[in-house]
This record gives sequence, C-alpha cells and structure tokens, in this order.
Amino acid sequence: MNIPVQNCSSCAACANACARSAISMQLDAEGFYRPVIDVKKCVECGACERVCPWNKAVENPNVANILPKTVAAYAKDESIRLQSSSGGIFTVLAERVLDDGGVVVGVARIAPTRFGFIIVDNKVDLVKLRGSKYVQANVGLIYKKVRALLKVGRKVLFSGTPCQVAGLYAVLGKVSDSVDLVTVDIVCHGMPSVNVFEKYVREMEKTDNSVLDCINFRDKSEGWSGYALLHQFESGRSVAVPLNRSKYMHLFKSRICQNVSCGECRYRKLPRIADITLGDYWGISKYHPEMNDNKGTSVVLLNTSFGIELFDSVADKVVQCESKLEYAIAGNPCIVRSSKQHPKRAEFFANLDNYSLDELIKMYCPFPSAMARLHKQIRKILGRVKRKIKMFV
Ligand SMILES: Cc1cc2nc3c(=O)[nH]c(=O)nc-3n(C[C@H](O)[C@H](O)[C@H](O)COP(=O)(O)OP(=O)(O)OC[C@H]3O[C@@H](n4cnc5c(N)ncnc54)[C@H](O)[C@@H]3O)c2cc1C
Repeated sequence: MNIPVQNCSSCAACANACARSAISMQLDAEGFYRPVIDVKKCVECGACERVCPWNKAVENPNVANILPKTVAAYAKDESIRLQSSSGGIFTVLAERVLDDGGVVVGVARIAPTRFGFIIVDNKVDLVKLRGSKYVQANVGLIYKKVRALLKVGRKVLFSGTPCQVAGLYAVLGKVSDSVDLVTVDIVCHGMPSVNVFEKYVREMEKTDNSVLDCINFRDKSEGWSGYALLHQFESGRSVAVPLNRSKYMHLFKSRICQNVSCGECRYRKLPRIADITLGDYWGISKYHPEMNDNKGTSVVLLNTSFGIELFDSVADKVVQCESKLEYAIAGNPCIVRSSKQHPKRAEFFANLDNYSLDELIKMYCPFPSAMARLHKQIRKILGRVKRKIKMFV
C-alpha cells in the first residue's frame, strides 16, 4: 500500500476492505493507529488503496445539496445532559435507535489507557459510549461488523469523527444506501496520540502514587464552559483539573499532539459527511442566551433527510431552538476547516520520551502568561457588555 503517513487519518477503511485480512491497525512510534500489512497474506489486489477516503473523496449517499438545518439543543433529562460532553443529544438519539430494536456503534474505553469502537444493544451499556474521549480510538474491523448488521436488516446508529464516518461509507459501498443506517459525526478539533495520553497517565500516577482508575474528560461539576478533567485513582482519591490548567487539554488545544493528517482533514467541510453532526454550541450565550444555563448545549447540524427524521422523532425529549449555520461556525470553525498543525509538532514528538510533559510544554507551547489571560478575560467581558448594550439600544 502506498499511502504516505501524513495522509493517513487512521480510519482503518483499508483494513476493513481487505478480503484476506492482511491488514491490522497498530500503533506507530508517535502513538497513532496505522495499517500494517502481513506480506504473507497480501496478494497486492489494491483494494486497500482504492477504498482509502484520502485517495478518493467519499460522500454521504443521502446528502442533499443544501445547507444543513442548524439547531441549538439539549436533553430534557438533566442526568443525561450532565454526564455528556455537550447537550447529551447523542444519548437521546442512541436511546431512540435502541428503542426501535437497533444497535449503536461508538467509542468506549477498552483497556485502562486505550479506546476503541464497540457495538451496544442496550441502554445499560450505552453509558460506555457517552462522553468525549480525547484520545485516538482504534477502529479495528468495526465497519465490517456494521455491514454484517445492515445485511441482516438491523438498524444501526454509527457515531465517530468525520474521517471515521467517511471510512465507514467507503467500506460499505452500495450498502451505504441502506435505510437502516444513520450516521453521526462529531465536530472534531483533531485526534491526540495514544502515546501522549499514556505519558500523561503515567505522570499523573507517579504524582499520586496510585493507579488511575478512570478519567472523565468533561466533568461539569463547575459548569460546562469551565469543565474539568476528573481523575479517579485506585487509592480512592479524585483529582479535578480545570480546563485552563490542564496540561493534557493545553497540548490538545495547541494542536501539537494530534494526528499529522488532522492538519489537512478532508472531511471538516460542508456538506458534512454524516446525517447528523454534533458539537458544543460555543458562543450560545451570544446568539441564544435563553438556551444557556451552563449545563451544556449542543450544536446539531441536520445534514440529510435521515438526520432530520431521527432528530424529529426525539422532539419530545429535547429542548431546542432553530439557529443559524454562521453562528455555529463562528464558535466552532472546525465545522468547515482544519487548522494547521503546531509548527513544533515534529520536535515535540521527537522529544516525547526525553522530557516530562511540563518541560515539553515550556519548550514548545507555554501556557499563556497571567497578563495574556487577563487581556483575554477583559476582551470577553467587554464583548458581553457591548452585546447587552446593543440589546437595549
Ligand atoms: C477528539 C475530539 C475532539 C472534539 N473536538 C470538538 C470541537 O473542537 N468542537 C466541538 O464543538 N466539539 C468537539 N468534540 C465533540 C464534543 O466533545 C461532543 O462529543 C459532541 O458535542 C457530542 O456531545 P453529546 O453531549 O451529544 O454526547 P457525548 O455523549 O458527550 O458524546 C459521545 C459521542 O462521542 C463519540 N466519541 C467519544 N470519544 C471519541 C473518540 N475518541 N473518537 C471518536 N468518537 C468519539 C462517541 O462515540 C459518541 O458518539 C470533540 C470530540 C472528540 C472526541
């Protein structure tokens, strides 16, 4: 297979398309899943290269050539909402599909520091998919399993990043037309490396002198906008690190530890690849203040008739208001475009094993100074005041 690493989103379409099971997804030196070919099994048929969504643009077969319907929404059930990253819309949609006898496919923790795709057929297990895991997940052979389910007439809700949804459609080929498939993609900032996450966990465990039991990347105890990373240790201690002080999230937001292809993502664009796109409605207090109580509001893009139909069917379970695409994009530019990698990304990875994360942050992407933070805060407050004045004039 001749696909340069900078063009590999780790979507695993190649592994799923290989009729001889000659390709497996394995972590590379930076900690991203890459196809590894068993040359003894490979017959050089070229199916892996033909299916690659980087080589050949993939489209959602149901996508209409119109702009998506944009909605601000959150789950009426507060416990779902508080356990979810944004407004809990994913769980509401998933429960609907499970009620209809379908299955839900998404990302769960599959080992202490590893994440991967699983298939869920009941509401108890749905909790495993809930919440964002800011680490690259192993796609494995999940698309093959989805195809098998669709072939026997099972309804499937598949959720993942845009590149993973593209990978699914590429592998399904004609089966993509199935009326039983609905896809959800998340607004994606980029996928962090497993190695960086594992280094972070090791450092946390050393500091706490205890094994990390679990991590919630989006603890909302102090609100949605100022969420924290909640670490629970085997010792019984739990440590919440607020977003603005989290070194892991600082690295994530700096785009220094993400997959190299994320800098040129082919699927952060309109029309979106999935039937429904979900993200955080950043900027909600500016555009729809009545929808913001700091418990989480989702931006929902309804991209196809399948997406509209599923979302309409849960209308009694959500609070919603119609919004505008330009508002959603203003708060979340990665709905439509990729941002360049951090210029020191290569150096960062070359030195990952030589320095602590604190040292690497100091060397390549220091936290903003107190003065810079103050400036930002003042700009935010002034913006809020301006908006309030505008409302009364
Ligand atoms: C790496 C990453 C980057 C993100 N970047 C942004 C961003 O820049 N802006 C924004 O508005 N939103 C972003 N999101 C999406 C956001 O965090 C929520 O996942 C989304 O709004 C859905 O929230 P929810 O409350 O409806 O459901 P939740 O229950 O919080 O979301 C669960 C869904 O996320 C999926 N998921 C979780 N972890 C992963 C993973 N590692 N890989 C693939 N799928 C995963 C699950 O399969 C499930 O479908 C990102 C999510 C991830 C995982």
